[in-house]
Amino acid sequence: MECLRVREMLQRLLDKELPEAQAEAVHLHLQGCPFCLQEWRELELTRHLLQEAPIPEPPPAFWERVRSHWLQELRRLLPSPVATLRFALLFGTLVALFLLWWRSWGVALWTRWLPP
Ligand SMILES: [Zn+2]
Repeated sequence: MECLRVREMLQRLLDKELPEAQAEAVHLHLQGCPFCLQEWRELELTRHLLQEAPIPEPPPAFWERVRSHWLQELRRLLPSPVATLRFALLFGTLVALFLLWWRSWGVALWTRWLPP
């Protein structure tokens, strides 16, 4: 097996995701290739160090900063209450005008279009 092919499979070997036959072939290669063996040991060491390393706690102010950032984003994305009120008033006025028009002329116009 070629070194390049072996090195592509080392991570999967480490994650125990290689089929047994491929895993055996890689192990066989590692016994005779100091370069790939070195890479394999570095991968194992890296995995070990990552597993042993404590998960860092964020500083106390971190969550407050996240919260304030999201509030700012929400305020930026949502329309202001004044704009919402203006829209509601305009929409309500248009609906009221339409209903007035409908009661005065709209029904008469509509019935003229209907077949007898
Ligand atoms: Zn090799």
